[in-house]
Amino acid sequence: MIFARENGRVIPREDKIFSISNRAKAMIKEVGKDKVINGTIGALVDDDGNLIVLDSVRKVFASLQPGEYAPYAPIRGIPEFREAVKKAAFGSYEPKGFTEVCATPGGTGGVRNTMANFSSPGEKVLVADWFWAPYKTISQELGRELRTFRFINEEGAFDIESFRANVTEILAGQDGLVVILNTPAHNPTGYSITVEEWQKIKAVFGELPADKKVTLLIDAAYIDFAGDEEEVRNFLPILDEMPGNVLPIMGYSASKTFTMYGMRCGAMICLAKTEEVADEFRRVTEVSSRASWSNCNLAPQTIIAKIFADPELKAKVDEERAVYRDMLLRRGRAFEEEAAKIGLGIVPFDAGFFVSIPMPNADAVAQELEKEGIFLVPLAKGLRVSVAAVSEEKARILPARIKACMDRLGQ
Ligand code: PLP
Repeated sequence: MIFARENGRVIPREDKIFSISNRAKAMIKEVGKDKVINGTIGALVDDDGNLIVLDSVRKVFASLQPGEYAPYAPIRGIPEFREAVKKAAFGSYEPKGFTEVCATPGGTGGVRNTMANFSSPGEKVLVADWFWAPYKTISQELGRELRTFRFINEEGAFDIESFRANVTEILAGQDGLVVILNTPAHNPTGYSITVEEWQKIKAVFGELPADKKVTLLIDAAYIDFAGDEEEVRNFLPILDEMPGNVLPIMGYSASKTFTMYGMRCGAMICLAKTEEVADEFRRVTEVSSRASWSNCNLAPQTIIAKIFADPELKAKVDEERAVYRDMLLRRGRAFEEEAAKIGLGIVPFDAGFFVSIPMPNADAVAQELEKEGIFLVPLAKGLRVSVAAVSEEKARILPARIKACMDRLGQ
């Protein structure tokens, strides 16, 4: 007898990434850490495989008093958090429009709340064809249809033509469209949309009839591991220049930036052209949050508020993060360099936790690599390597091992 309803969702027996990771852990127990490369994990670990936690953040956490973590937080987040998270997301940039903030449980909550409030059941939501799997899960859960455009063209750049064609075609059949762009340091490829490409995206929206609405979610989960804090935010002024029928929403996650993955903290921040739209954003996201997770965890909100209230502490957190960010960038570069040397084609990589190798049958290659103690995540369009999860030394070894396996399997 089956009780649960599928309601259009695909319900797997077990989560794919966690099951690969469990097999990696089992093999480590059997043959030892040195013989296994677990490149599946989406969290930054040190060279020995231990989760990196910023000590400056840990200290703030340890100092919290019951009144700072035990009460319910307001649904949209405590006011100090709402102010601090704008600074965290925008850096020195000050948006010109009307901003409103809604606290979310991680960046995931922002994705869910955006789809739920700015699209209707049955409508299409547009994402890149290399995409983070939960976009699909969330769209199915909410009864939306996920459509993809080709992310990277033959020249290795953002495929503006495919983007334009999909936006135009979808909006010929529906009045509004949610578009999700995960940048900078996109998961799973490490690509970052350039300022010039952002200008072209703006131009595509400018070509739309004025009565068609676009809600543009910038999923910036990896922004603080993408490079220099100021440079990676260079595209933000373009969001302010978007036409009036576009509502940009910044999807922010504290998971990576503050190494608080399990604390479930994030925010969605609108950059509205009018007070009316900002006010509507505030009201709908509040209702939607209440209906799904009620309010969010108070402790991480307090931690972020405290960090931004104390410039010395903020500097310490930034310094500490910069060391790990540089380590991550070195790992990514090492992988990229070795891949180039041996002619292993990868999706153009800029920065971040992941690198991807396009191939027709990533499942077969991943299975074969597991026999050699290499655990990676097969996706529809290729194989994902988490450089966040392996040492620089292992990141250097991997391209040759992957290429040899692909050659063996005729990929
Ligand atoms: N968006 C992308 C593309 C991600 O990879 C992640 C985390 O893995 C998130 C958003 C948000 O994660 P969280 O809900 O843990 O903050």
